[in-house]
Amino acid sequence: MFDTILIANRGEIAARVIRTARSMGLRCVAVHSDVDADALHVELADEAVCIGGAAPSQSYLRGDVIIEAAKATGAQAIHPGYGFLSENPDFVQAVEAAGLTFIGPSAQAIRQMGLKDSAKRLMQAAGVPVVPGYMGEDQDPGHLEVEALKVGYPLLIKAVAGGGGKGMRLVERPEDFVDALERAKAEARTAFGNDAVLIEKFIQRPRHIEVQVFGDGNRAVHLFERDCSLQRRHQKVIEEAPAPGMTAEMRAAMGQAAVKAAEAIAYKGAGTVEFIVDGANGLRPDGFWFMEMNTRLQVEHPVTEEICGVDLVEWQIRVAAGEPLPAVQDDLTINGHAFEARLYAEDVPAGFLPATGTLAELAFPEGVRAEAGVRSGDAISPHYDPMIAKLVVHGPSRAVALRRLARGLRDTRVAGTVTNLGFLGALAEHEGFARGEVDTGLIGRDLDALMAPAEVTPQIWAEAAMAALGLLETQGWDAGFTLWGAEWRAVVLEQGGETREIGVKLHGPDAALVRVVGQEVTAARGVRGWTFDGKPGAGSHVTRGHVTVYADYGVGFARPDPLARGVGVQAAAGALAPMPGRVVSVHVAVGQAVEEGDRLVVLEAMKMEHTLRAGRAGQVAEVLVAEGDQVEAGAPLVVLVEEDEA
Ligand code: ADP
Ligand code: ADP
Ligand code: MG
Repeated sequence: MFDTILIANRGEIAARVIRTARSMGLRCVAVHSDVDADALHVELADEAVCIGGAAPSQSYLRGDVIIEAAKATGAQAIHPGYGFLSENPDFVQAVEAAGLTFIGPSAQAIRQMGLKDSAKRLMQAAGVPVVPGYMGEDQDPGHLEVEALKVGYPLLIKAVAGGGGKGMRLVERPEDFVDALERAKAEARTAFGNDAVLIEKFIQRPRHIEVQVFGDGNRAVHLFERDCSLQRRHQKVIEEAPAPGMTAEMRAAMGQAAVKAAEAIAYKGAGTVEFIVDGANGLRPDGFWFMEMNTRLQVEHPVTEEICGVDLVEWQIRVAAGEPLPAVQDDLTINGHAFEARLYAEDVPAGFLPATGTLAELAFPEGVRAEAGVRSGDAISPHYDPMIAKLVVHGPSRAVALRRLARGLRDTRVAGTVTNLGFLGALAEHEGFARGEVDTGLIGRDLDALMAPAEVTPQIWAEAAMAALGLLETQGWDAGFTLWGAEWRAVVLEQGGETREIGVKLHGPDAALVRVVGQEVTAARGVRGWTFDGKPGAGSHVTRGHVTVYADYGVGFARPDPLARGVGVQAAAGALAPMPGRVVSVHVAVGQAVEEGDRLVVLEAMKMEHTLRAGRAGQVAEVLVAEGDQVEAGAPLVVLVEEDEA
């Protein structure tokens, strides 16, 4: 067994590999780019090496620098994670040439599966059913057009070097073929530097069902299937295991085909054989076809771990170190059901645009396996994939696991960036999905309903306003003293293109009336926190410029700077102590009218005198301090009201 391994990756997968490796007693070396110096995976590792600039081409894709780092830190093996160098056969060869072990398959196995057309030819020869279509080398457009007619419409054009759903075009009619071909080739050229394509019959009501395989370089076993049919633009969104509606007969046929595929290339380590399944008439043993093999650990591997009770990373490390396969086929059984949802920083209404931002708060509920690459306070950087975390749940049945997923998503808290959390939540509560009626078109058909924005009720506005004013967190006598003196306080918030000034009137520390555009919301503090019109508050997070209320997967409010606008807390309340200090002098009395800018109180703090002035014209309703008083930061000193309120 190794004593030290290097993890050539970042984010959630690096963190996940490090956790297992450390639990096995191994020392872990992380690598990171400049911008990742404080990243979670660096914190979790025993040692870390900076390998270059933020752009992947300057760091995480620098195989030579990574191999040097492994040698310098005494690592004997390199785990590639997924993405980056994980499916790069030249890197595997370089690792081995340096006398190190690559935790994964051989360079040759990766090459054999690297291009979709040659992989399909190889699988066909090994007796694995493949999607019917053209997978020849002749790329002449005229020839491809003729082949397309033989395949029949609708069809898919796919980049042979494709991945991540790129370089694919669905073509429904012959007259669209030439144009679609040009566009698929252009996309493939930019994304993969290889514009060769293949043509495939488009399977109706397609389901994506893949089989997890594991080999020792000689024999292989399978760890059953995952259903990844919930996709948006050919990208997986929610995955599950086992597949809904799977029969014992079809499972056996798919498992055997996947093992055959792995053994045909003497596969070593964890891999996935992806099949497309015709779901139009139920699952039948003759209704599945090989699409491609991913020669790495897959993003969605945790659902398999959950139902099989194995740690695939542990298996990877043990087999790479020369141990035999940790299980024989008959040892492996399915226990219950598991789901995974991919949480991304993305702007769903803007067309699922990747988003950036700093995670002011990131918290997951109990009972959910959250595989995160970031934590509260971290930035989602524009340099990398905007995935925040994967939420994985397990249950004794599909129905229970799905409830756990829905609940887990509802109770997840993300503040600081927009996310697809609400979209995932809507999927987890989708009726067709609950019935197991999955196919790759489900999301597209119901997109509008799944993207429906949250309804922001007056109660949610009220909670946001009270949170913004700092009235929800403090408790007890102190809160009563420092926050209670004011009459109406006002705060300006923006949400969904609407700007509102919200008034809050406290009745003691545990009750308030909140005025939201003509409506009044009653807030009260009970044993389980604040309620708004009797309904429990959702919880909130406040930063300088934003308030997030965790209702409906998180509603974000922008909070315009009150000083810049001359409205808000300060102006409404008259004067709040900006810092702890001593009152030097008071310049107004109750009932007195003041103009904006008039001197109210002089405070001595940090050995300097600070003059606090009226933020707007009004009448002095209360003077809460006298000369010589010591005051806390935030304490109201003078309360102003509008002259007509007085
Ligand atoms: P998978 O089949 O494992 O879900 P996809 O097919 O969605 O992965 O992704 C295609 C390619 O993008 C693969 O090379 C995969 O390793 C990489 N990839 C997918 N998701 C991520 C991610 N969150 N971060 C980095 N690379 C990723
Ligand atoms: P990638 O390398 O980008 O993962 P795949 O070949 O795995 O590309 O295909 C990605 C997705 O596209 C599949 O998961 C499936 O949803 C859809 N797809 C691929 N081939 C077909 C097909 N022949 N018919 C219908 N859908 C398909
Ligand atoms: Mg794929």
